[in-house]
Amino acid sequence: MGKNIFSQKQFHDEAAARQWFEDARWPTGVYCPKCGSLEPYKTKKTGVYRCKAKECRKDFTVMTGTVMERSHAKLTQWAVAFTMGCASKKGFSAHQLHRQLGCQYNTAWFLHHRVMEAMRQGGLDLPPMGGKGEIVEADETYFGGVESAKMRTATTSGRKFTKSGKGGPSQKRAIVTLVERHGKVRSFHIPRADKATVAKIVTDNIHHESRLHTDQSRLYTSVGEMFGEHETVNHSQKEYARDDVHVNSAEGYFSIFKRGMRGVYQHCSEKHLHRYLAEFDFRYNHREALGFDDEARTVAAIKAGEGKRLTYHQAG
Ligand SMILES: [Zn+2]
Repeated sequence: MGKNIFSQKQFHDEAAARQWFEDARWPTGVYCPKCGSLEPYKTKKTGVYRCKAKECRKDFTVMTGTVMERSHAKLTQWAVAFTMGCASKKGFSAHQLHRQLGCQYNTAWFLHHRVMEAMRQGGLDLPPMGGKGEIVEADETYFGGVESAKMRTATTSGRKFTKSGKGGPSQKRAIVTLVERHGKVRSFHIPRADKATVAKIVTDNIHHESRLHTDQSRLYTSVGEMFGEHETVNHSQKEYARDDVHVNSAEGYFSIFKRGMRGVYQHCSEKHLHRYLAEFDFRYNHREALGFDDEARTVAAIKAGEGKRLTYHQAG
């Protein structure tokens, strides 16, 4: 993220910010967010359009039907929030936004969470990852501390799954990530790193004809049998790659995530961890290698904010 990026007009001029958001959301022309009609007209009120369709007649702005709806923040503030979330590899925090905007912390917190919500991918309607003969890596890691006893990472017998067999991650938050080789990522914060939980994530998300690559963790032994191929690397034998078999993409993702969380997010409460993962997933899935520069990534996030709203309102 260039130092002078915030000298651009959309970050301090409300009309320019509105135009910037309209260009991102409606690149081929304004349409009604309620009925899809392509013939809205401008009303006398700044930024307000009215749908021409007889049975609709909805008034709307560029914020309607997006994560920005019913917010009192300025569009210039939203522009800074979206840009901070998308133009930095490490992501951003409410604290950084608070400093940049000079606004109240609560406002920054709210903007930050709504931008993260825009960046969250859909649920079960996502297409399966991989495909016939394509490689998908699955791997897990542990991060931060857990806050409640029932969130502890252990099997029902209390035995913990670990990479090396030593130490225990029971006080840490478990994360599973799936990465297509040279493609996209999906990450999950799971309450328990046990076989059933991991198997469900893997089978729900990965095409069964894919080549599944994991390490030799017992978490993947049974679920591996449900795939075209299941190939493993033996990390305990210091084997990190064998021909094209490895989980280096997953480990690369984890290192970006952990570095970003260390540098930026000092107070990520566990209940929000999945949102932070979604944010890192979004940037990874819109990275330069996949054809997105900072601007294209920001526009993608604004577009992705359509049709989403948050259901919680408290800071923390
Ligand atoms: Zn309409």
